[in-house]
Order: sequence, then C-alpha cells, then structure tokens
Amino acid sequence: MHFVIIGNSAAGVAAVETLRRPGGGASEITVVAGEPETAYSRCLLPDVLAGRRAEASIRLRPADFYRRLGVTLFSGVRAVELQPGEKKVLLKDGRELTYDRLLLATGAAAVRPELPGVRADGVFVLRTMADARALSAVARRVTAAVVAGGGLVGLKAALALKLAGVAGVTVVVASPRLLIRQLDERAAAMVEGELKEFGVQFIYNAGVKEFITGTGGRASGWRQDGGRFSPGEHLSGHGPDGGRELPAGCLSGVVLDDSRELPAGLAVVAKGVRPETELAARAGGRVGRGIKVDEYLCTSLPDVFAAGDCIEVTDRLTGQPVNSALWTLAFEQGRFAAANMLGQRRAYPAPLTRLNSARFGAVDVISVGRLDGPEVFTLDDPLSRTYRRLVFDGDRLAGFILAGRVDGAGVYTALVKSGRPVKQHIRALLGGRTGEVAVSGLMAR
Ligand SMILES: Cc1cc2nc3c(=O)[nH]c(=O)nc-3n(C[C@H](O)[C@H](O)[C@H](O)COP(=O)(O)OP(=O)(O)OC[C@H]3O[C@@H](n4cnc5c(N)ncnc54)[C@H](O)[C@@H]3O)c2cc1C
Repeated sequence: MHFVIIGNSAAGVAAVETLRRPGGGASEITVVAGEPETAYSRCLLPDVLAGRRAEASIRLRPADFYRRLGVTLFSGVRAVELQPGEKKVLLKDGRELTYDRLLLATGAAAVRPELPGVRADGVFVLRTMADARALSAVARRVTAAVVAGGGLVGLKAALALKLAGVAGVTVVVASPRLLIRQLDERAAAMVEGELKEFGVQFIYNAGVKEFITGTGGRASGWRQDGGRFSPGEHLSGHGPDGGRELPAGCLSGVVLDDSRELPAGLAVVAKGVRPETELAARAGGRVGRGIKVDEYLCTSLPDVFAAGDCIEVTDRLTGQPVNSALWTLAFEQGRFAAANMLGQRRAYPAPLTRLNSARFGAVDVISVGRLDGPEVFTLDDPLSRTYRRLVFDGDRLAGFILAGRVDGAGVYTALVKSGRPVKQHIRALLGGRTGEVAVSGLMAR
C-alpha cells in the first residue's frame, strides 16, 4: 500500500505518526511538502518574528523524523495536479507519484485583498516561516509599520513587530473594536489596554485602500541611519541592512479609506485565510467552505482523504458548515483521516470550531462556543485583572470568555462540550471555583 500525503504541517505530521503506529502495516509513505523547512508550529511564528525564539525551536519534530520513520519526503515542491482516475499526483518539478490512498493536508493560505500596491516590496502576510524571516529582516530597517486587521494574527504580528524594535506600529481595524469574532467589548478592551502598554496604536472603523511606494527619494517609515539600497534590491530579507534611499516599488506608506496617509516601511495584511482547495476542486472534488469530506474524512474523490485547514467541517454547537482553522483540530483530523486510510472506519465527531486562546503580554484570553445567548453572566474584577463571561442556553453552558486570568479554562471547555446541565453551579463557575463543579461528578458523566 502506498500512502501519499500532500502537506507537511499539523495534519500531515499527525497522519504520518498514525500510519506508522503499530498495526499500521508495512506501507510505503511519501510526503510532499510545499515548504522547504522541517514541519514547524505556525502558531509560534510571531515569537520568531519578535526575536524571542530561534527558528529551530519551533520545529514540530526532530529534523530526522521522517527518515527514522522510513518516510520519503519531497521537500520544497508543490503538487500541481491530482488525477484521481489514474491515482496519480503530478509535482511542479515534473515528477509523478502514484498512490493507493492520498491525504490532502494542504492547509490554508493568507488572503491578500486585491488593493493597489498590495504586491509592493514591504507588504507582507504572516503565514509561513519564509514570511516571518522576511518580516524580521525588514523590521530591523523600518521605524513605522501598519498592520491591516484586528484579528488574532494581526494583533500577534503587531506585538511581535513592537518587540522586534519597530518604533511605531499601528493596527488598522475595520470594526469598532478588536477581536470582534472572538471577544466581547470588555475582554477586547483588556487586550487593547495591554497592547497600548507596549506602544501599539489603533485606528478603528477604518480600512486600508492603497499601499503607496517610494520613488527613489527619502521615504517615511524607514530608518535614516543605514546605508543605501542596492539597485534592484528586494525587501524580502536578502539585502544589506539600512535604508536611506528607497527604490521605486518599496512601501513608504498606506492610504486609509478616508484618505488619511500613514507612513510605513512595512505593512502586514492580516485579513484571514483561504483554504487550499485547488487540487481537489480541479480534480472534480466537491468544495464548499473547504474541501467537503464525509464523517470518515474522505472527499468525494475515491481514496482521497482530507484533513486540517483545507476542509469544511460542521460546527458542533451551531450545526453550520465552516472551514476548519485551528491547530488542534488539524492535528486531530490528521489522526482520524490516517486511521480511515488504514481502513479502521473511525467517524470524526463534529468539532467545536469556536475555540480561541491567545496571550498578549500579561493578558491571556480564551473564548469558546457562543459569545451571546439568552442568558449572560459576567464577573469583572479589575483589581485581580479577571474577567469572565458565561453564556447559558437553558441549563447548559453554551460558551464563555475568560480574560486576564484564565484558570480552569479546561473545565469550562469540557462543560461546553458535554452539554450537561450546570446552571445550579453558576456562582462557583462565575467565581472561578471550577474545582467544585469538577468534583461534583458532572465532568465524569
Ligand atoms: C501566525 C499564526 C498564528 C496562529 N495561532 C494559532 C493559535 O494560537 N491557535 C490555533 O489553533 N491556530 C493558530 N493558527 C492556525 C494554525 O496554524 C492552523 O490551523 C494550522 O497550521 C493548520 O494546519 P494544517 O496542517 O491544516 O495546514 P497548514 O499549517 O496550513 O500547512 C499546510 C501545508 O501544506 C503545504 N501545501 C499546500 N498546498 C500544497 C501543494 N499543492 N503541494 C505541496 N504542499 C502544499 C503548505 O505549503 C503548508 O506547508 C495560527 C496561524 C498563524 C499563521
């Protein structure tokens, strides 16, 4: 049996480990990895950008992982065509692979809205190690940066740029507050307060309409203490340090919807992700908000499975189709898909897709499930920097937000997942005494 896996991140690595578990048989495994790096944690890219972690420290597995597992790895090459009839995959370098079962673990790519200047040198997204590397090289040379997007990735990028030494970092947010899909007003204000302590600035109810470039003269947003750019140099991290004169094509600022101009030598576009569905779609596979899969994570193409950010899942709480976009889900799906590739028939249960956690400086935030509902209870204690919002639907805890201190998050999450009646424990839950609820036996049932 020859298993081919396209994509070498959370879902791909989890699948390989499952296929190589005892009982997996003496199969041949080939991984096609679009990126040249050993698999790494995307969630920790902001730490690399901030200079707080070395690239090697965010590796998922040791560099010799695939060799030890007897897996063939094609690194830094993309699969360009899937021929399900012939059970063949064509690679960009001209190679062809035949498979018995295939896993699409192709993830997602960052969205770059088609705005004027969005392809200019100095305009980045933050999705890959190459992005983080290029961003940190440019961050050392600029004094002003703009981040377009007040979601999790945008805010992580903004803080990382600040920590990397960029003097002025401004986040342009389309909505009236930060993290509008993850947090309520109070929790968002706590995050905003913390980021402002670091010197990050915010502009709300605004969007970027254009990225403007230098014309060879002095540019705003660039350090004036370095050398000159060499002709034709690209700001993708390969040039010499410093930057007094800016060649045409390099970012010098952004224009907002209301025509305000902000100086910027660097911009990060953080406007969400788009599932990588192209291989499946072009081969005739069904695609909705991601590649459509059945409960065994099998696509509509024979012997082709899919897992991770590239698929559509049904949210457990809302019953709505959404694209899967969480690390833990990608990993879990990689395991389920591989088990099914081995013929074990393991049905993947509808996941909880509204589950976010992040840390900004000293402020932790976690939100799970519904953020609004018929009954909402809050506790706000500025002294201990603790904020809790519990959303009930009848007797069930349907969702929650924790900000500041997030102890017991695992218990609240388990209660949301279990759907058990816990309303009688409202005081303990709001007070953070989750131990009382856990020992009451509700968790075990
Ligand atoms: C900055 C940042 C912070 C994040 N923080 C969090 C967090 O705190 N919590 C959380 O849950 N999630 C977080 N995420 C999201 C998380 O990283 C993703 O959910 C997760 O990486 C998805 O894993 P995946 O294996 O499905 O795909 P991906 O990680 O997207 O990897 C897919 C891989 O497939 C490769 N590929 C695609 N197409 C092809 C092809 N045709 N041929 C060959 N290779 C191909 C790509 O190059 C890529 O390497 C964050 C993401 C980013 C960018």
